[in-house]
Amino acid sequence: MGVYVHIPFCEHKCSYCDFHSIVVGDAESFSRLVDSYLVSLRREALYYRELWGERPLQTLFFGGGTPSLLPPEKLASFICFLRQELPFTAEPEITIEANPHSLTEQGAEILASAGVNRVSLGAQAFQDHLLQAIGRKHVTAQIAESVGMLRRAGIENINLDLMFGLPGQGLPEWRDSLEQALALEPAHLSCYALTLEPGTPLATWQKAGLVQLPGEDEQADMYDLARRLLQRAGYEHYEISNFSLPGRRCEHNLLYWHNHPFIGLGSGAAGYVNGCRYVNAPDVQAHIQTWERGQPRYVQCEQLTIDQQMDETMMVGMRLLEGVAEEQFRLRFKVSYRDVYQEAIDELAARGLVEQVGGRLRVTERGLLLENQVSAAFLR
Ligand code: SF4
Repeated sequence: MGVYVHIPFCEHKCSYCDFHSIVVGDAESFSRLVDSYLVSLRREALYYRELWGERPLQTLFFGGGTPSLLPPEKLASFICFLRQELPFTAEPEITIEANPHSLTEQGAEILASAGVNRVSLGAQAFQDHLLQAIGRKHVTAQIAESVGMLRRAGIENINLDLMFGLPGQGLPEWRDSLEQALALEPAHLSCYALTLEPGTPLATWQKAGLVQLPGEDEQADMYDLARRLLQRAGYEHYEISNFSLPGRRCEHNLLYWHNHPFIGLGSGAAGYVNGCRYVNAPDVQAHIQTWERGQPRYVQCEQLTIDQQMDETMMVGMRLLEGVAEEQFRLRFKVSYRDVYQEAIDELAARGLVEQVGGRLRVTERGLLLENQVSAAFLR
């Protein structure tokens, strides 16, 4: 069980991004905004402390937005506060997402002293022209520089995020990105296909014929190449988009894929506490004001039925290559998934998308490429 904190600030908007984040203004107004936001996060954390009780928390994850945009001392002091006030274990996994150009040597040291032991770097690609094409701020050289800074600060557990299916990207560029990423020997790699989100500049440009994206077959080849290269280099492919060295899976994200509870803090954050799935309003100023009154403001808040909990457990669990363990499902819900989903399982198995192996239901190689269809089959 863990805590997710959303830091909704970015220096500018990347052209493909529809995550909740606002572009920050001048240094002075940003500093004031950060202070007010951190006060609201502290109040929110104390509110959930009451609801959560003493169940131990093993992970803390700062996502965004760009968490590395926060002044490191302020982030470090907030981490100390959370560790004091919430029932974290002695050495929780503490991850921050970072952009390569927003890290500094001193900042990495401050964060490491506060207990940050994992950093997820938004590398995305190792060709400057591709980074530019998707509106990223950093240049390729800053990826290796950031990895060096983190290692010197004692942070070894480093993830590199990579994207494929970018405008103008072919298989050779993708291979080059994978090889350059591997040369940095990260503990973990995430490989995501670019998805065109309606309303983003990239989607508009694509619609207007101004950019060309690789087709579905080419994307499938890119995914296949990633699997082959990374597995050959000793990385376990453990989730549709994620690869890790042995023992370096992301504990926080595993919590989602096992459909376990977590506290979500911040503007636009989602959480799952005491059977209730909630989503905070994605509005930074409203978040600050709402916590002055000491009450959450949700855009969604739903007490899940047992049926919904089962569906979600299957849907997210099938993203893991090891699949869902029948025994664990039975322990949790007092019924086998076969009794609930036999028809869906038979249909997926007949299409060669899932298989039952060693007491687990999991996706096949073919099912990996059609994972959306596999997950959707468990939604009743
Ligand atoms: S840095 Fe991340 S969150 Fe911010 S605009 Fe770019 S993709 Fe979106």
